[in-house]
Amino acid sequence: MIDRFNRKIEYLRVSLTDRCNLRCQYCMPESGVAKMKHEDILTLEEILRVIELLAELGISKVRLTGGEPLLRRGIVNLIRDIKSIAGIKQVMLTTNGVLLDKMADDLINAGLDGVNLSLDTLDKNIFKKITRRDSFENVFNGLQKVISGGLEVKVNCVPILGVNEGDILKIAALAKDNFIKVRFIELMPIGCAVDFAGVKTTKIKSQIEAVYGNLISVEKYNSLQGPAQYFSLPNFKGQIGFIDALEHKFCNSCNRIRLTAAGFLKLCLNSNDGLDVKKLLRSSISNENLIEELQKTIYYKPREHHFNENFDAEKMYQIGG
Ligand code: SAM
Ligand code: SF4
Repeated sequence: MIDRFNRKIEYLRVSLTDRCNLRCQYCMPESGVAKMKHEDILTLEEILRVIELLAELGISKVRLTGGEPLLRRGIVNLIRDIKSIAGIKQVMLTTNGVLLDKMADDLINAGLDGVNLSLDTLDKNIFKKITRRDSFENVFNGLQKVISGGLEVKVNCVPILGVNEGDILKIAALAKDNFIKVRFIELMPIGCAVDFAGVKTTKIKSQIEAVYGNLISVEKYNSLQGPAQYFSLPNFKGQIGFIDALEHKFCNSCNRIRLTAAGFLKLCLNSNDGLDVKKLLRSSISNENLIEELQKTIYYKPREHHFNENFDAEKMYQIGG
């Protein structure tokens, strides 16, 4: 569907849980997050009902995220069910990869189209420092498995001053030998991240160019590609991408909405505007009326984010990145 600023809204991100098996310092407190009551999170059936209705409104790509989405019981069947909804072209997953090694085969068989794997370092010790968990090997094995399984793979790295700056070149090199995209994402000033400083994209680009040669811009081929600007490099099989939402707002072409684990339809990462879908789902509302509510809400998606003025957003593990 088209919103009031003429943007085509076709991409839904669904957070399946706030819980996580890592404790990345810039995302989650060491103690973790208070467990939500079972009845407070959307059931898989409720999630499916919302996606079916949103697909009627033109949503064609769904990304499952969290917290850590692979912790949600039933995710494999959920993927299979979402894939069978008319109009849904792609089902993707954003994961920290800890459980990927174990689950990759089932996920692939269920029809998963692609994985965004968050990996900020290739150094086991720095991994442990950032995530407060000793799971580097699991994640790395999971990465190998989804690459060899033929999924569309993107590695997402958030470079942080004084933490993993020294890893940028090694992470970038994952796209040298593999047909994958490696994306560097600017740290957003949300929650625990306010205690850290991200590395500027210009600095990352010059580090990469000094060693691997000139970054060559790659034409974006459709709006489902997302906000990253992609580049190729001499002798690289894959591509390097950059997402710097603060320096380069991509709000004019934003095509996404988010459904939180608690069942709130969020219209922008940095805004509380949206709809309490859970409340409606648990009333006796008909599909016809629910679609109408969804449509009215999405039409009023905010024009742009205001991260530069307003740092008081929700936590990233609630929104799902
Ligand atoms: N647990 C999964 C994972 O790590 O991929 C999914 C949820 S996690 C919140 C999604 C992405 O958000 C991760 O790539 C993570 O690095 C990123 N992220 C978390 N906090 C962030 C922040 N303050 N700024 C930018 N990215 C952030
Ligand atoms: Fe968990 Fe992902 Fe947040 Fe790390 S970034 S703590 S893996 S939700």
